[in-house]
Amino acid sequence: MELKELQHLILANEVKAVDLKYCGLDGKWYHITFPARNIAEVMEIGIPFDGSSIPGMRSVESGDMVLMPDSKTAHLESFYETPTLRMICSICDAETRLGVKKDPRSVALRAHNYLLSTGIADMSTWIPELEFHLFDSVQYCSDSFSAGYNITSSECKEALPDENEDPGSLSLQGVKGYHIDTPFDQFYEIRQKIVELIEEQDIKVRYHHHEVGISAQEEIETELLAFPKICDDVMIMKDIIRKTALQYGLTATFMPKPVFGHAGNGMHFHIMLHKNGKNLFYKKGGYADLSEEAIWFIGGILIHGRALVAFTNPSTNSFKRLLPGFEAPVKLFYGLANRSAAIRIPKYANTPETKRFEFRTGDGTCNPYLAMSAILLAGLDGIKKQIDPAKYNLGPFDDNVFAWSEDKKAQLLSIPTDLKEAMQALKEDHQFLLEGDVFNEELIESHIELKLKENEAVSARPHPHEMLLYYNL
Ligand code: GLN
Ligand code: MG
Ligand code: MG
Ligand code: MG
Repeated sequence: MELKELQHLILANEVKAVDLKYCGLDGKWYHITFPARNIAEVMEIGIPFDGSSIPGMRSVESGDMVLMPDSKTAHLESFYETPTLRMICSICDAETRLGVKKDPRSVALRAHNYLLSTGIADMSTWIPELEFHLFDSVQYCSDSFSAGYNITSSECKEALPDENEDPGSLSLQGVKGYHIDTPFDQFYEIRQKIVELIEEQDIKVRYHHHEVGISAQEEIETELLAFPKICDDVMIMKDIIRKTALQYGLTATFMPKPVFGHAGNGMHFHIMLHKNGKNLFYKKGGYADLSEEAIWFIGGILIHGRALVAFTNPSTNSFKRLLPGFEAPVKLFYGLANRSAAIRIPKYANTPETKRFEFRTGDGTCNPYLAMSAILLAGLDGIKKQIDPAKYNLGPFDDNVFAWSEDKKAQLLSIPTDLKEAMQALKEDHQFLLEGDVFNEELIESHIELKLKENEAVSARPHPHEMLLYYNL
């Protein structure tokens, strides 16, 4: 969008303020707001800020940094009373005004340029599946709730249920269920409102429904969205979900496993590559009608899967979701219509236009810019090296691997079981991320440092369940 168009948008909508958003390494949005009259100046020279105050941004590029707004992202903000224009920024060097190495958004832009430079494809499109829980504020502040036991943390004002009580009673109601209908699904109106707001931001939604977990587990799926814009779109959608929930007196969480013993929240990605308007993943006659490129791309994701998890599942809570029995994967393999697989080939998408696969491992605590860029690089590495998953025992397997013998299961490649193991896997395998200077050692080191600190902070704290096991010993 030209400056003139921005100025027109401001005038036509009586915009008073321009809100700039940027994403930290931690995957959170930060914002700074300026009077709309200064639009021309800011578009030219950006807004200076203190990079050393943003988690993970310090070290070499600490200190003076500049936010450069991307005018293509300009949109009216839906939630502020003051008419406000929102733009998403890249974090840039104070002198060159180019995206710095550690700016997640710049990573995604570089990943896209790298894709183009390989000549393999000229576009990639994705469907993100956003799963989340709506809770009241009691659950939001409760350490104990996620363990499901009756030990109230000091921050929690209200008593929690005892061990045998369905944790659902703590949410707004105890109803469970995939696609559960109204009146049991009490959240139709909230989801519909969220979807309308998402579509107002020019992001097309495919559908929304109640998810399998206890009420209120919700899901919103979009239509195919193009990378790298999809990374901004995921940030926008999460923001809308949170803010709409608050308007209804609720809180939304993307925590992978907010409630012990119940379904967790994933963020599955359906992925396609295109060249000259043609989907590269379809070939009649191959396994599941997948092309060789698709199978190699899958091979790349699976073979780098243990390291990828460091970006796609980057929280201590992530690994509480990746357990058997909750439609979340624990082993790295692919299969047709197999929901126990890290990669599923959906049966219903079987035309040259729709053929794709679904990577089911990730969750909503990921930084979408870093997670999707890493997935893309792993897949491209697979194509470049022609990695055949079958050679590495990575599938295809179409049966339920949880029913296999222990010996056979043990031969499958496992997803890391905790954050520390995932960070170790990333340390050992990240060459594929350095291609095209998309990621770099500094960013990877900062990410590992940030995540190991989180791991330490969690493991250093006495857990409510430890009280149950050891209090009376
Ligand atoms: N909630 C499941 C997960 O954690 C997915 C369930 C589904 O979408 N079928 O990945
Ligand atoms: Mg879905
Ligand atoms: Mg789902
Ligand atoms: Mg899915």
